[in-house]
Amino acid sequence: MSIEKYAVIGNPIEHSKSPLIHQAFARQFGKQIHYERLLSPLDGFSSTIKRLQAEGYIGANVTVPFKFEAYQLSYPNLTERALSAGEAVNTLTFTATDIQGDNTDGIGLRNDIEGNLGFEIRGKNILILGAGGAAHGVLMSLVGANSLTIANRTLAKALKMITGLYHDYDVRAVEYENLNVRYDLIVNATSAGLTDSALPLPDRIFSSDTLAYDMMYGRETPFMHQARTAGAQVADGLGMLVEQAAEAFYLWHGLRPATSPVIAAIRQQR
Ligand code: NDP
Repeated sequence: MSIEKYAVIGNPIEHSKSPLIHQAFARQFGKQIHYERLLSPLDGFSSTIKRLQAEGYIGANVTVPFKFEAYQLSYPNLTERALSAGEAVNTLTFTATDIQGDNTDGIGLRNDIEGNLGFEIRGKNILILGAGGAAHGVLMSLVGANSLTIANRTLAKALKMITGLYHDYDVRAVEYENLNVRYDLIVNATSAGLTDSALPLPDRIFSSDTLAYDMMYGRETPFMHQARTAGAQVADGLGMLVEQAAEAFYLWHGLRPATSPVIAAIRQQR
């Protein structure tokens, strides 16, 4: 029997932990899979995907900067989650004739925050920092919140993000400097941490009951440092990364892997 083939595609891609995570999941079920990191040329995503499809790959995870292209490539063969994720796709499933697009980032965030961290989203006042692909991807997973505020350096993008949004909560877009109240949950979905840039956030948005969640992982960002100093509880995005991978694994294999041992193993490696 031939080994099932998968890949994670991005540019850059060398630091991706997806191969390690998917191989750990596969081992839990005694499965052998081939899962590789693939660096796609910036102008060659579509041909990279077509090649994988022709070579019989089962699926691929997609990361920066190709999530919007992945959406276009799989259109109109998109799951509800992908349709509500602002035209961003992070999981592709191939058949000989079709490419299906899904987005597991939102459910990954929710499963980490509620399942692993024990923080209930229902009824909470939530602030999302950023209005890029990651922020779009997780928006609909926050249903049940009491209110949702989006703050972004470029306010127009935050305003666009909430336009036409179907929601059951109070929603608004503001500038960082105009954040005047404390929030129960603050999700940093900006890439400011990549360059160690601080966001101009007032300390008054944090309290000891606030969960400050940074989608970045691997080191303490200025956002995490500020939140910790202001007395908030702080979490990084490693749990989300593993949870979104678990959802992709379920999509491809129909099996639900245990995520906690994988999160713990990656933390220990650091
Ligand atoms: P995008 O490039 O689509 O968006 C970047 C966002 O960050 C924009 O809102 C941008 O603001 C803002 N930003 C960037 N630099 C600064 C800065 N110096 N000051 C203020 N705002 C800034 O990126 P993504 O949305 O795809 O990714 C965002 C982060 O989320 C990345 O770090 C990524 O690694 C992480 N991520 C983690 C996942 C996980 O599983 N843990 C999953 C997905 C993403 P503006 O609009 O003004 O330019």
